[in-house]
Amino acid sequence: MSLIEQFLAKTSIAYFSMEMALQPGMHTYSGGLGILAGDTARSSADLALPIVFITLVSRQGYLRQEIDADGGQIDHKDPWEPSDWATPLDAMVAVWIEGRAVWIRPWLYILTCPLGHQVPVLLLDTRLDHNDPSDQAITDRLYGGDETYRLKQEIILGVGGQRILDALGFRIRTFHLNEGHAALMAAALLKRYPTSPSQIERDSRSFDADQVRQRCVFTTHTPVEAGHDRFSYAMAEPLLKDVLDVEVLKPFAGYDNLNMTRLALNLSGYVNGVAFRHAETAQRMFPGYSIRALTNGVHVPTWTHPALARLFQQLAPDWGHVPESLMDADQLPDDSVIAAHREAKDDLLAEVARRTGRKLQPDQLLLAFARRITGYKRPDLLFSDIERLRAIHQKHPVQIVMAGKSHPRDEGGKALLKNIHRHIKELAGELDVVYMPGYDMTLAKTMVAGADLWLNTPLPPLEASGTSGMKAALNGVLNLSVLDGWWVEAWREGVTGWAVGRDGDKNDEHARALYSKLEDVILPLFYDNKERWVWMMKQSISKIGPRFNSQHMMRRYASEAYLR
Ligand SMILES: *Cc1c(COP(=O)(O)O)cnc(C)c1O
Repeated sequence: MSLIEQFLAKTSIAYFSMEMALQPGMHTYSGGLGILAGDTARSSADLALPIVFITLVSRQGYLRQEIDADGGQIDHKDPWEPSDWATPLDAMVAVWIEGRAVWIRPWLYILTCPLGHQVPVLLLDTRLDHNDPSDQAITDRLYGGDETYRLKQEIILGVGGQRILDALGFRIRTFHLNEGHAALMAAALLKRYPTSPSQIERDSRSFDADQVRQRCVFTTHTPVEAGHDRFSYAMAEPLLKDVLDVEVLKPFAGYDNLNMTRLALNLSGYVNGVAFRHAETAQRMFPGYSIRALTNGVHVPTWTHPALARLFQQLAPDWGHVPESLMDADQLPDDSVIAAHREAKDDLLAEVARRTGRKLQPDQLLLAFARRITGYKRPDLLFSDIERLRAIHQKHPVQIVMAGKSHPRDEGGKALLKNIHRHIKELAGELDVVYMPGYDMTLAKTMVAGADLWLNTPLPPLEASGTSGMKAALNGVLNLSVLDGWWVEAWREGVTGWAVGRDGDKNDEHARALYSKLEDVILPLFYDNKERWVWMMKQSISKIGPRFNSQHMMRRYASEAYLR
């Protein structure tokens, strides 16, 4: 039996995502969206869901970040070798782009969970000798290149991915579009809409729009404009003309331009945002559609530090599979939680020393900030009043660890990165702030477990969900966050963590609120009331762990979206 055959009969759902964080060694992801897709796959395997994943092979990765002496980001390719992880399949399909056949071959990566269940992941690759050299590069660079390059990638993912599933013999009932990048997949189903009765007989899988909607699930992931792909028809039509009928597309994707979010919205029968607050925001952005809320979660065994995992194991042997059992984490002995956290913190301090040569103090509060460096995340909010930060630090010492990449074309993000580094220099010799280049899955694991406090300062309502704070919470790392995304649901002031400011606050109000919370509440608690701090750590694990995990999330997708 061929490798893929074992999956054919039992698979009825296909999940399309431009990026997926499967393994640290597979550079097929950029950030939160890919991490979510990876955790989705891990929980799907845990739950033995009948699902196949489709993504691009992204041979040159997303971005290897180097930071120069001025805090400037230097963008490098980040190649990886598919044959180290995956097996090439025999099947090939072609899509016609710019008058050339672009052949696609899938690699199969099999994700196996501890219970032994497996889910297949297909990594689409156009780097084949018989393709034109420019077409070979289509699946090279995640979020790279210009608009034309992006649209070609979306054709490969959506249309190519759908044809690959057919060619391999999958019979898919439900298609899940993880963000609008894969929207052409739904349009490809539509393309088979029969133009004559005889064609119905020839192609039994011809769908009208209603039938497509019965099959498609769309998750939208961001209220940020730049996150919604829009292509002019002048650019798109020449690329699409041999793939899809653009006139058929327009009623769904828009007459002015090809709007991938509109296309996905119009062809999906179940649409959701990734937190309650985000679903409300998306509903305002897209009136006339019904947008549900299905809050993100993280894969608990993946993001729990081994020292904490040992405690959870004693608490409930099946904690990884049934994270609901973490509700009893509030019963853990204080000493064991303190010792486990100390182990995780030592690991992070060792990593800081290894990467930067800097020695931080294990007994001082360690505040971490790690996320994509871009405007709305306001990574410099913490430095908006350096004098105030200095004064706070003199009363109660603070140490800061930061990480995060800017998208290569995000000039604003890159300027922020330089700004942050200017502040780091300004504070040198007084307040330790270390910046670790190359934020990825591996570094994230160490940071979310080893910090004491996890800071999040987005401008509401732009953080759709955020998931790094969930990872921190699982490890007993307390969240200090603006009320946005998932935190609106998980925040219990002084119990699971703390809020920064109130709804509707402006930048400077958020900055003042951040400083007061640190100065008046958090630092005194950390240094003078260890007992209450540990109590909060346990509250954080026991209240957040059981709910904001991808097992729970996938049970909901399965019952509410896939089995509609
Ligand atoms: C979890 C994770 C993210 C997403 O977290 P946010 O809270 O949305 O920033 C991004 N990048 C990496 C490497 C992660 O591990």
